[in-house]
Amino acid sequence: MHDLRKSYGGHDGAPAVEVLRGITLELHAGEFVAIVGSSGSGKSTLMNLLGCLDRPSGGRYLFAGQDVAGMDADALARLRREAFGFVFQGYHLISTESAQENVEMPAIYAGVSPTDRESRARGLLTRLGLGERLGHRPHQLSGGQQQRVSIARALMNGGRIVLADEPTGALDSRSGEEVMALLDEMAAAGHTVILITHDREVARRARRVIEIRDGCIVSDSGRAPAEAPPEPAPSPLPSPSTTTDAADTPRALLSELHEALRAAWRVMWVHRFRTGLTLLGIVIGVASVIVMLAVGTGSQEAVMKQISLFGADKMYVAAIPDSARGRGGKLTLADVDTIRRLPNVRVAMPYIEGFVIARRGNVDHRTEGGGATTDFEQALKWPTARGIFFDENDEQSLAKVAVIGERVQAALFADGTDPVGQRILLDNVPFDVLGVLAAKGAGGGQASEDERVIVPFSTAAARLYGSNYPTWVAVAVHDVDKASETAAEIVEALAAQRHVRDVQVFNQTESIKARAQTQRTMTLMLGLIAAVSLLVGGIGVMNVMLMTVRERTREIGIRMATGARQRDILRQFLVEAVLVTVTGGVAGVVIGLLVGAALIVWNVPVIFSLTAIVGAFCCAVLTGLVFGFMPARKAAALDPVAALSSE
Ligand code: ADP
Ligand code: MG
Repeated sequence: MHDLRKSYGGHDGAPAVEVLRGITLELHAGEFVAIVGSSGSGKSTLMNLLGCLDRPSGGRYLFAGQDVAGMDADALARLRREAFGFVFQGYHLISTESAQENVEMPAIYAGVSPTDRESRARGLLTRLGLGERLGHRPHQLSGGQQQRVSIARALMNGGRIVLADEPTGALDSRSGEEVMALLDEMAAAGHTVILITHDREVARRARRVIEIRDGCIVSDSGRAPAEAPPEPAPSPLPSPSTTTDAADTPRALLSELHEALRAAWRVMWVHRFRTGLTLLGIVIGVASVIVMLAVGTGSQEAVMKQISLFGADKMYVAAIPDSARGRGGKLTLADVDTIRRLPNVRVAMPYIEGFVIARRGNVDHRTEGGGATTDFEQALKWPTARGIFFDENDEQSLAKVAVIGERVQAALFADGTDPVGQRILLDNVPFDVLGVLAAKGAGGGQASEDERVIVPFSTAAARLYGSNYPTWVAVAVHDVDKASETAAEIVEALAAQRHVRDVQVFNQTESIKARAQTQRTMTLMLGLIAAVSLLVGGIGVMNVMLMTVRERTREIGIRMATGARQRDILRQFLVEAVLVTVTGGVAGVVIGLLVGAALIVWNVPVIFSLTAIVGAFCCAVLTGLVFGFMPARKAAALDPVAALSSE
């Protein structure tokens, strides 16, 4: 190190403080050096620079002859992985991983095969007296044990240079003594050991003591004369060695991916409550979008089906009966002709109605009788299902023929006889049944409409009701959009002809259009509610993920200190975010479909939309990625020391 400087602050209004003020220092392989100084003198800052966890603000740092300032993030990660092993005062173990996994971590980033690193980690831990504690997580270990785990981690990749920052600072004297004995052993085995401490007593164990005060070196005992070359004493600890970089072969990538998946699964499992909350947000959001849109589309479709079934182009004209306000009239067949002549009118059919008693054999059945013209099917969009409807001849000749509704068939022909061609009595007049009307009840309409017998208008007027005033006139129009205008025209035309305003038009078009509109509004509202629940779910996910970022930032610092490259970190967090969100998304889709299926059983019209399913799923995954992955990306771009010190 030559004239190395480090200052903090100087931006965002923070005063610039120079913590290291020109450190010039030469350290050699195999030395056991202690750097002593009081608290705040800059020891940790110096160690972070030595270990390439932080970048100096000035001066030069040559590592093995190479200027560290010229290295990019990946090269620094490689250096940390191959050359350094860190032992921190606060241990810095990853809380979700076991002792064994913590120790293995540097080897993962060095691309060591799983079996090799497993046996090496087990060997190291066993030699450090933790053979019984391999599967324990850090919080299940004492401070001394945790520090021994972190020493094992420092040695995992060979640990040519062990940097120990106040390794005994948080330990009781016995555990501290054990840790110091380990450092002694390592130094004896040929490792370069740099021990940082405020305790002169501890520093005395080293062969070279450098004192630092206010960012300057104030004394240096120098290299012990008898020291070089270090004689590798027989030691239970491995001798320093180097490992290779993780190769980017497909197999290595696959193994890394597997490792990332395992770590992601571990994090999810350890924080299962938190993961559950995240998943809940996603599941509810996705499922509600799917269900609500399916219900909305389903009921809209049901209304549309009704419209096409009954025809949106229908209206009914009737005269208002006598009332206190004036003499009400009866519609006449001349009125029907007037209506028929209006330009937008396609069909105008007079209809006369009243109850009749239908009889067959000894069965009497009171039903709705009606006289209609051959326009019946056209005007009412009501086809004949069996047999035929009567024709113009029947109408002209006052033929005693009838077409019956489904309920009348059920009542009179309960024995299963085909009604077509049979004779029935209507108010004691014999009629031949020509056909059976399509059942409205079965087609989504009202079953009560099927309680009906239709005969030619002329026959009804002459034989059944004794009058030829239509009860109402059914009108079908050409252009549905002009239905309201046509209705007004009908009222005007009839008022002019009848010299009295006693006619009312019941315009179904309007009501059906209004219903369709209501339905659209409802679908929109359901969609909005679904979107809101997706949003709220997303915010929940965001909250949970942001809450964990601080803790994870420290973990990212630890991983980088043990040699992870930025892309190792990114890969892991990406895998984690994808795993959580895809799990949640899939669960949401499945639950949404199940709820939808349950609604179908309950006879709620439901139509699933692929767009909604895919859209909701993508939204969920996107939210998870943005809030799970982006903070990790930000953290990975930090210097390791900044990530490490985040609390
Ligand atoms: P030591 O380890 O010797 O106790 P440090 O190296 O941790 O001391 O810190 C030296 C000085 O640098 C302290 O005065 C501390 O306040 C300051 N310092 C350390 N880290 C930062 C930082 N990230 N930002 C600003 N000041 C810092
Ligand atoms: Mg310190």
